[in-house]
Amino acid sequence: MHDVLIIGAGPAGLSAALWCDELGLDTIVLEQNEQVGGQLISIYGPIEDYPGVRANNGREFLERFSERVSEADFDLWTNVEIESVDLKAKRVALRSGEELQSISIIIATGVRRRQLGIPGEREFLGHGIIESANKDRNEFAGKDVCVVGGGDAAAENALLLADVCPTVTLVHRRKTLRARPTFVQKLQGQHCITVFPESVVTRILGSDKVEAVEILRKDALKPFQMAVQGVMIRIGVEPNTDLFREQLQLDDEGYAIVTSKHETNVANVFAIGDVSNPLAPTISGATGAGATAAKVIATRLNARQ
Ligand code: NDP
Repeated sequence: MHDVLIIGAGPAGLSAALWCDELGLDTIVLEQNEQVGGQLISIYGPIEDYPGVRANNGREFLERFSERVSEADFDLWTNVEIESVDLKAKRVALRSGEELQSISIIIATGVRRRQLGIPGEREFLGHGIIESANKDRNEFAGKDVCVVGGGDAAAENALLLADVCPTVTLVHRRKTLRARPTFVQKLQGQHCITVFPESVVTRILGSDKVEAVEILRKDALKPFQMAVQGVMIRIGVEPNTDLFREQLQLDDEGYAIVTSKHETNVANVFAIGDVSNPLAPTISGATGAGATAAKVIATRLNARQ
């Protein structure tokens, strides 16, 4: 029986684990990936908004985080496949057959990139689908590319690609972009960027690599094809709450609903980080939530003794 079982070892889960350790709680962290860090691993651009820390990319940030983690004394299991979770009973069954039991559970499972679900999206992974403008910059330099999405991520990546690509076509479904005004202004100042509003990409085409996209404009009867050699999809994220869907109170988009203490609707079950924060998914928010949840748990456990 552990005091705390943390699911997910991104910034939120690791921060909670560090605080639990600091507060003397017997803690175990379960991570499905081989590596800890969550989304940090796929941030290829600089991290500048975490107060007091600047890093060239997510991995560099994670290295600093990991120095502190290596000094701490909590159990960290990676490559863990969870079969089922009984939040009320605080029991987690693993695919390997093991069962873990705790007094409290902290859910820190983060979010995953939303997919369009169109033909070509999966097939051309590694063959013309751009994963990150920072990481794939050299590969797509000199090529015509299309970016799908109208938020900050799509706008930021379109701007980065515009530095090296002759044409960047930004396709988004609303009349106006959702991205922040500073990004929109910069987009407007870039001659090589064309914005297609009220449009959707319906297919990604090619033989063994991306050669074109099919675009359908809102008022058009038929889609048209546009030759591109790269496609980037940035249409937001979805919370990783599938494991808990029947047990947790979720909002319309599937995010865990929590109190200011990061408590869910199930007693002694907390949700922290992006999985419960659709509004401001930041690293600082995630680490702060980890500290809060750990302190609430420690206070309650101490009161029981
Ligand atoms: P957003 O949710 O902000 O935007 C998603 C975009 O994709 C919207 O234009 C949305 O359209 C569109 N979209 C969603 N689903 C579909 C679909 N099925 N088909 C077509 N279009 C779709 O996500 P982002 O990834 O841009 O950003 C996520 C968070 O990360 C935000 O909080 C953002 O501020 C932050 N961020 C911050 C950055 C920075 O600080 N430098 C950089 C990147 C992201 P609609 O508006 O119609 O829903």
